[in-house]
Amino acid sequence: MEEFPLSLSLPESSFPLSESPSLSESSSPLSEPSFPLSESSSPTLSSSPFSSLRISSHSPLRAVEERHVCEGCKKSVRYFCYRCVRLAPGLEVPQVSLPLELLVVKHARELEGKSTAVHAKLLAPEDVTLTTYDPKTQETMDRLAALDPNESVLLFPDETAQRVDEIDWRDVKRLVVIDGTWQQAKAMVKSSCLQHLTRRVKLNESNKTLFWRYQQIGPHCLSTIEAVHHFFQELHQHQHGQTTQAFDDLLYIFSFFYGLIQDDYAQNPDRRYTAKHRQDYITKRPKHD
Ligand SMILES: [Zn+2]
Repeated sequence: MEEFPLSLSLPESSFPLSESPSLSESSSPLSEPSFPLSESSSPTLSSSPFSSLRISSHSPLRAVEERHVCEGCKKSVRYFCYRCVRLAPGLEVPQVSLPLELLVVKHARELEGKSTAVHAKLLAPEDVTLTTYDPKTQETMDRLAALDPNESVLLFPDETAQRVDEIDWRDVKRLVVIDGTWQQAKAMVKSSCLQHLTRRVKLNESNKTLFWRYQQIGPHCLSTIEAVHHFFQELHQHQHGQTTQAFDDLLYIFSFFYGLIQDDYAQNPDRRYTAKHRQDYITKRPKHD
């Protein structure tokens, strides 16, 4: 019984929410789908687990019908080039403003095309920096080592990590997020260029991923963009005493791909996607209001 959409789930970095390091290796779905999408794909948010979020219209993405050659790397891409972090010509996506600088440190061996970190850079370009953790590149490692530990908080759920509301954020200028498998992330935080970042934050455990049924790992693993979205929601709640939807468009691309995958199921009953499955899935979604 193929309940899990293995053929569609792409290996990607994922992020354990709290201390649940029983995971050996992680994976989660939803980077740019590599399967052929039918012409009639028209995902809607009305019945999706994102319907409670304030996510901008996906019409601009749906209007991208053809692949194009990226001006940067000359490779064929459709919606955006994850190598060059460049949108398709003429494509505009919502722009999100973040209250902190977001530095995403991607493991050099993490497959770029499978990472949702690039979504953050496309949707909040002013506030997001992507960098690659590569021990062979001294300059990058030096730059990471030079991060001021008083101004930086590392999103990493180890035993020292505090909850968002336990941290004094006044002097914090940047959130550092690791983009890699759980094994890669554990090795990176112990390395000389990141171990000095001793202020660590973990997300509220109740923020389970919306996609846990589509992962083999479990509810505590989030993709990078989900983790970032949850973090900024929690920070806002802590600092302003109320929830916000100001960061929901961080999931703009993620939710679009989710919709494409759902549509693909609907059109391919062989994949054993069932209404019951979806029903369970939706009723368990976290409240965002
Ligand atoms: Zn490119």
